Amino acid sequence: MSKNPFCLVCNSQTKFFFEKFVSETNSEIKLFKCLKCGLVFVHPMPEAEKIQSFYDSNYYEKPGFLVSFLQKFRVKKLVRFPKGKLLDVGCGNCSFVNAMAEKDWESFGLDVSAESEKHFSKKVKNSLHANVKKIYFKPLKENNFSGNFFDAVTFWHVLEHLTDPVPELNETKRILKKQGKLLIAVPNIESFSFRIFGKNWFHLDLPRHLIHFSPESLSKLLESKGFKVKKISYFSLEHDPFGVFQSIYNSLGFKWNFFHNLLRKRISPFSSLGNFINFLFTLILFPIVLPVSFILSFIFSLLKKPDTFTLIAEKKFS
Ligand SMILES: [Zn+2]
Repeated sequence: MSKNPFCLVCNSQTKFFFEKFVSETNSEIKLFKCLKCGLVFVHPMPEAEKIQSFYDSNYYEKPGFLVSFLQKFRVKKLVRFPKGKLLDVGCGNCSFVNAMAEKDWESFGLDVSAESEKHFSKKVKNSLHANVKKIYFKPLKENNFSGNFFDAVTFWHVLEHLTDPVPELNETKRILKKQGKLLIAVPNIESFSFRIFGKNWFHLDLPRHLIHFSPESLSKLLESKGFKVKKISYFSLEHDPFGVFQSIYNSLGFKWNFFHNLLRKRISPFSSLGNFINFLFTLILFPIVLPVSFILSFIFSLLKKPDTFTLIAEKKFS
């Protein structure tokens, strides 16, 4: 039997946590949990080239009306701080960078995927607000940002896609001003949804999500890297009800993430009989599953076990 890996971030002992067969990679993916800091991570990690192949061009399409509306809540989390320079890491189609620019923040974005860069020069580049200063396509460390430069750095559902969060957090600390804000939103592996739905949990999203946090494990990590955790928010209208909603359908035996893929226009309901049947039953159950999802996600949030959480930290004086 192979030995358990050591923790990615604190090098302590781990225990086997979970495994799931993932048809996308045609393999069994194993997750381990650190006995000390609580980090959950995939082991072995896929190779960098392989990881790129998990993201199709569709991943970066401009979001539809509903998603755009829900993303406005992201802006609210930051605009209560004094205006300044923002860096959005993993900026995707630049919608958040643009929205913050409209609020008079000097905005910068960064995204390392080749697909995102292609998409940017084709579709996004010419529609950016004047306050968007620059979009970078190299890994965080390779852009030679000045130290103490940014007032805020944001990672919206990015950290869980990395093979190691530590270099990114160290660099973030360097480029943030003192008391600069770090905002991180990630899925919550301690959520009730994961406990209930297990391998059918939408936000597990294997093979793309390589590390999983809980509010506690992320707080520990940030405190150890020179940040002070200021606030954790336990509800995201953008991610939580939908997480429960799609997890229910996944658990009922529908095609994997069928509704999500419909929304993302990755599949068509009319391309096969199977898809059509899935579509039909999705519609029939919709009036039940939708309210149940909202009710459950509100309850999970009240109990501080939501599908996702958003944490705001500040760079410590040191
Ligand atoms: Zn650890």
